Amino acid sequence: MTRSKFLLNPSPDEMPRTADVVIIGGGPAGTSAAWALERLSPGIQILLIEKTERLGAGSSLASLEAFRSCWPAVCLAKQMEFSLEVFLHADDYLGADAAQSLDVRQRGYLFGAFSQQHATTLQNDVKRLHQIGLSHIEYLDADEVRYRFGWLGDRVIGAKFDPMAGWLDSNALIHAYVRSARSTQVLLNAGVVDLCIDGGRVSGVNTPFGTVSAPSVIVTGGAGANDTMLSAGLTLPLLLRPRQSFTTGWRHESFPDDAPMVIAAPPFPTHLRPEARTGAIFGWEYTWHNKKLDAVYGTSDTTDAIRTPFYPLQQLKDPRFPSLALLRLARQFGHRDGEGFADPRYLRSISHNIGYYVHRDYSAAYFTTTDGRQQPYDSERAIIDAYPGIDGLFVSVAHVGHGIMSSPSAGDTIASKVLGKPLRHPSLADFGFDVPYVDYDMAVI
Ligand SMILES: Cc1cc2nc3c(=O)[nH]c(=O)nc-3n(C[C@H](O)[C@H](O)[C@H](O)COP(=O)(O)OP(=O)(O)OC[C@H]3O[C@@H](n4cnc5c(N)ncnc54)[C@H](O)[C@@H]3O)c2cc1C
Repeated sequence: MTRSKFLLNPSPDEMPRTADVVIIGGGPAGTSAAWALERLSPGIQILLIEKTERLGAGSSLASLEAFRSCWPAVCLAKQMEFSLEVFLHADDYLGADAAQSLDVRQRGYLFGAFSQQHATTLQNDVKRLHQIGLSHIEYLDADEVRYRFGWLGDRVIGAKFDPMAGWLDSNALIHAYVRSARSTQVLLNAGVVDLCIDGGRVSGVNTPFGTVSAPSVIVTGGAGANDTMLSAGLTLPLLLRPRQSFTTGWRHESFPDDAPMVIAAPPFPTHLRPEARTGAIFGWEYTWHNKKLDAVYGTSDTTDAIRTPFYPLQQLKDPRFPSLALLRLARQFGHRDGEGFADPRYLRSISHNIGYYVHRDYSAAYFTTTDGRQQPYDSERAIIDAYPGIDGLFVSVAHVGHGIMSSPSAGDTIASKVLGKPLRHPSLADFGFDVPYVDYDMAVI
């Protein structure tokens, strides 16, 4: 009987009973793991299990689909170095025509400074990035910003610029991974999947369509990863923060089609880029709190993260988010009513999205002070590792706000761990469970 690539309500005859590796979660982390396993071990039999009817049904739906090379922590910089290599040579890594479907726009990332203090911070950032070999990152003074990006106006007095950065079609990326993972079967609409663990080792998974025996299982369910882990009485140290974005069908005339991704300055670091021919896409990582959750989780107005995903997540959208983000931008850029970001046409055709940023929790991200105390911090590092104490169980989770751009490397790292092969760079071990701190791993937009 020929094997179908996609399985939807499979009959007992269609459903595989064994696999070399089962992957649970069909977002960027899971599909890139399948792609990388096939590259490192051609013909390896993989069953990728996705709980919904489509691949990429998690946070990537709300994402800005952007990538950049400027990361000050060495492990993150190395992750993006390989990922950019894949994005920029997509046909070589992901098969013929992948480049066309990914539609990579390498327009750069511009971090704008609106005050002298922030300009100095960006200059120091650039020094650090040069120290770790990222010599292509530029600091632009006010004249250079005006010369290259005159449309930004005269409020931007300096900028950090990453010319390697850009964006792509994340849905096409997810499908390119799966297409090139030739020996992978994908079970869609899988319902609840339980881990089977016997005597401290994984033996497979139970699905509503039958049990699949496998010596290795990778959990890649994003915000839903702990649903799988809990089925075996295990947990991952994760915090979830809802984050929003919106696209508009219109953008003001001076905001050009070849603009880079622009990151406005703190305390309102809105980010924006052109989208499609006439529109734009915006994101903003403001401290989040939602009263609906207090009733459900007993949280308080000082809580900005939860552990168990709230569904339907759409209910947590803040309806004021698009107009507030545009108002902040108009103020920062000095646009008067009716001008630029303050033009009411922005509000006419908004598609407002929400997804989770998944972070390491503070038991897995802290540094030790000189007097021996553990000081928690918000880490940018995913957990890409073998689960301690359970042979054959692996995870690739907590990809925060960069799980699309990091996915080629994340897939490669977890595949190397599953197959017992060396990591592409020693610093990639910093994505381990047991590495609570690395230098320059703070929230860095
Ligand atoms: C507003 C916003 C903007 C962002 N912008 C960017 C950006 O510009 N660039 C970037 O690189 N990243 C960005 N991100 C982050 C990026 O989207 C995530 O880091 C990335 O999607 C994480 O990938 P993942 O595969 O771990 O999880 P997800 O994308 O959430 O995918 C998880 C998949 O697993 C499935 N699943 C969940 N639980 C189970 C289960 N129990 N069983 C089976 N399947 C399950 C889900 O349905 C989903 O398909 C953004 C995120 C948000 C919210």
